[in-house]
Order: sequence, then structure tokens, then C-alpha cells
Amino acid sequence: MDPEKTQKLEKMTRPVRSIPMVCSWCGAIYRIERHVIGADTKTGASHGICPDCLEKIKGHMDKGNEGN
Ligand SMILES: [Zn+2]
Repeated sequence: MDPEKTQKLEKMTRPVRSIPMVCSWCGAIYRIERHVIGADTKTGASHGICPDCLEKIKGHMDKGNEGN
């Protein structure tokens, strides 16, 4: 695959609609794609939290579980 083609594909598949949301943890404004919201509601993941804080929480939860 040539990079030029991949770039083109990336542009095409890039989500057009992203919704600005405020993180209820740190107050940072981040953007979330609509399809992500749909996935979140499915998995029951809480929204209103930025990826940064989500990682923090994840790290917290994984602390007792030392895999990797
Ligand atoms: Zn945050």
C-alpha cells in the first residue's frame, strides 16, 4: 500500500461530526466523535470524561492487576 493512498483513505474515513464535551473531572474541553458516544452507551462507559482522565482511572483500576 502506498502512503498516498492510505492518506486519502484516512481523509475519507475521518469522522466529520465531533461533539465538544467538558470533562467533569478536570474541566478540559475535548472532542468526541458521535460513533464513540454510541459505543460508550453500549458498553456503559461514562461520558463527560476526557481521554486523559479515563487513562488515569484505568491506570488506577489496573494497579492491582499486574499484567503487561
Ligand atoms: Zn479530564
